[in-house]
Amino acid sequence: MGMANPDCIFCKIIAGEVPSLKLYEDDRVFAMMDINPFDDGHGLVITKAHAENLLNADPDDLAAVLPAAQKICRAVEAALKPEGVNVVQANGPAAGQTVYHFHTHIFPRRRDDGAMLNWGHTPGDMGRIEAVYNKIMAVM
Ligand code: 5GP
Ligand code: ZN
Repeated sequence: MGMANPDCIFCKIIAGEVPSLKLYEDDRVFAMMDINPFDDGHGLVITKAHAENLLNADPDDLAAVLPAAQKICRAVEAALKPEGVNVVQANGPAAGQTVYHFHTHIFPRRRDDGAMLNWGHTPGDMGRIEAVYNKIMAVM
């Protein structure tokens, strides 16, 4: 496992130094209830190893995240009967990341919950889409 970061709240939670409502744990990941929930059932799946976010997390740790999220989503579905669930994850300040230790959110959703996660489907400019695609593929 990666080194714990002494200033990181999620590392402290994993170490048991800060309490949490644990939903799930295995060798690579830990999951808990969020203490500032968007709505009932808001949970977090975090890697046990400290990594800032998706850009520098260990791919093997990331591979354990979605199966854990699936277990929690199934339990949330059975227990709370939401109308949907979003699994979302923030990287960097403009994306809304506030804790710099990899985590993904699990948001039970209701049609009228007002979450700002839904966007319309406006057709894009294909020339622009392709120009941006070429920029990304040049470094892939
Ligand atoms: P971000 O804004 O980085 O995507 O998400 C960080 C999340 O961590 C927030 O939803 C916030 O409520 C949650 N959080 C911050 N500190 C703690 C804590 O001490 N315990 C738990 N369970 N969640 C926390
Ligand atoms: Zn950490």
